[in-house]
Amino acid sequence: MRINGHGHILPEPNEIPQFLKDRKLFSIDDDKKFMRQGDWTRPITDPSFFLREKLEWMERYKIDHAVMLNLSQIYCNGWERQETYDTIRWQNDFNAKIQREHPDKFTCGFVVQPLHLEDALKEIERSVEELNLSVLCLPTHFLNAEGEWLTVMDESVFPIFELANHYKLAIEIHPYDGEKMVKLKDEYWRFHLVWMMAQTADALHFFSLKDFVSRFPDIRTCFAHGCMLGQANYGRRLQGYDGRPDLFQGAKDPRNTLGHPNVFFDTLVHDSYTLQLLKIRVGATQIVAGLDDPYPLGEMEGVARSYPGRVIDFAVEAGILTEKESKEIWYDNVLRWLGKSGIEPAK
Ligand SMILES: [Zn+2]
Repeated sequence: MRINGHGHILPEPNEIPQFLKDRKLFSIDDDKKFMRQGDWTRPITDPSFFLREKLEWMERYKIDHAVMLNLSQIYCNGWERQETYDTIRWQNDFNAKIQREHPDKFTCGFVVQPLHLEDALKEIERSVEELNLSVLCLPTHFLNAEGEWLTVMDESVFPIFELANHYKLAIEIHPYDGEKMVKLKDEYWRFHLVWMMAQTADALHFFSLKDFVSRFPDIRTCFAHGCMLGQANYGRRLQGYDGRPDLFQGAKDPRNTLGHPNVFFDTLVHDSYTLQLLKIRVGATQIVAGLDDPYPLGEMEGVARSYPGRVIDFAVEAGILTEKESKEIWYDNVLRWLGKSGIEPAK
């Protein structure tokens, strides 16, 4: 059995509420060719952005079950309170409906925005207790009331993690909005290809220094895209921690987090040797299959030699993963991250 731990799904154009379209917060063209937000547009590059086609795509590639995260456009970073409240509730209701109607096929995530803390805490409670969702999706960074970008590991966000810990949730840390944080011209997709990797590594940096694994022992956290830069710069982070203790007062040694059983990374690293580094660093038991479908940076067919599961297959062929490790990455490890013992049978 194969579970994909990282995918995304779009609502049909007619499932998007009018206020989102009117205020240009988010919309999808009626012909389903583009998604839009303010002046930003993105082509909808694969039919499997939508439910029916997603189910067919999963069938075709023998993916039995998949974790659907929130839409990255709906982190609502820097949005005002009421718009955030309405939009996040809509996103979470949408994801809950997908999970409720197809429990055998989907486990869905829900999102909250740390800027509006009180609302975020209430939404966690609603999502868990009323919507039956158990994967909390957070952006790597968010805008605070002073207009500063902070990592989501900031102390002001601790109440969210405390509540997540109370509910023993799975957490997904996913990058977005890099072009708003880094003052560089948006060219050659650099914010997706380079800076996203830095954003996730930055989140892991703070996660380890602030000792999340001991502070919140009942959450299980997964970092998107293998947190590939965070694996490569591990030695540098240690050397900095050891070499300038004056800069790390009260911070925990990052060695404490490495390979921790509650910290997971997905396989969307694009090549077997980066996956090998990930395995060497954290152990195969902490790796979960993640396709990031149906985005063109995900493991999608039609993009050069890509297809769903390619990195895992190549790693097995190259002797980097054993068959057994590969099976566990597709199933057991994803379930451990989710805190589930199995997948619900079809209704
Ligand atoms: Zn993604």
